[in-house]
This record gives sequence, C-alpha cells and structure tokens, in this order.
Amino acid sequence: MPSFVIAEKCDGCKAQDKTACQYICPHDLMALDREKMKAYNQEPEQCWECYNCVKICPQQAIEVRGYADYIPLGGNVIPLRGTDSIMWTIKFRNGALKRFKFPIRTTPEGSIDPYKGLPEPDYSKIKQPGYFNYEAKKA
Ligand code: SF4
Ligand code: SF4
Repeated sequence: MPSFVIAEKCDGCKAQDKTACQYICPHDLMALDREKMKAYNQEPEQCWECYNCVKICPQQAIEVRGYADYIPLGGNVIPLRGTDSIMWTIKFRNGALKRFKFPIRTTPEGSIDPYKGLPEPDYSKIKQPGYFNYEAKKA
C-alpha cells in the first residue's frame, strides 16, 4: 500500500531545499520533480506505509493507497495536523466517516536530543550483546 502524491494538491513545499516528505521519509523514497514542482514516491514497492509523509505534508497531498486485490476501493485515511493534535478521518467505502483525535508532540521538529542524560558510549564494549542500553540501564 504505497504512498502516492495527489499532484493537484502538492506545491513542492514552495521550492525549499528539501520538501517535508523528503525530510521525513525513513526510506528516502520521496523525490521532487523540480520542473513541475511536484513530489512523487520514486520506489513505491519499497514503501513501508509508515504514514510519516502523509502526516507531515502541509497540503494534505499524500495518501496511502490500498491494493485493490485485498482492500476494497473507495476507503481512505486522511490525517489533519493541528498544533497539539492530529485528527484522523477514516472514510469507509460505504461513505461512513469516523474521526479520531490524538495529541501529538509540541516540541519543535529536530529539537529532541535522544541521548540526553545517557552516558557517553564506551566503545571497548561495542561487541557485547545489549551494549547500547547496558550503561543506560545501570544508570
Ligand atoms: S510534503 Fe506535500 S506539498 Fe510538500 S512536496 Fe511533499 S507532497 Fe508536496
Ligand atoms: S509512507 Fe513512510 S516509507 Fe512510504 S513514502 Fe511515506 S514516509 Fe516513506
């Protein structure tokens, strides 16, 4: 169920160096056609369907499409990000709608230091199993 870009909605993130979908994709799948200023998933079969690009797109221009052979056509899942929450709208193929709202992080992107408070790594132990968390657990 790879992601795909709805070209009419995509504005190429207004020609910034890197688009939001390129920034967020953990698999480096999103590319930008600089002539058309439209993004696209350059290798759909590699998509993890993680929905990161769907959530971050400021234009709501990305959807994840279900394969027709096992997901009935007509349904979709659309997120709308607010400043402190995200609203998911689920549309069933019979037209029924359900909405779910969840809180999200409120710190700026890139501001979290994932290693804060953890001891410096001791590379002499690099070959020990469980190395990464070993010192942290002791602390
Ligand atoms: S994040 Fe959305 S608007 Fe920006 S380039 Fe990607 S698809 Fe287009
Ligand atoms: S759904 Fe995830 S893996 Fe697929 S293109 Fe979007 S960010 Fe990348």
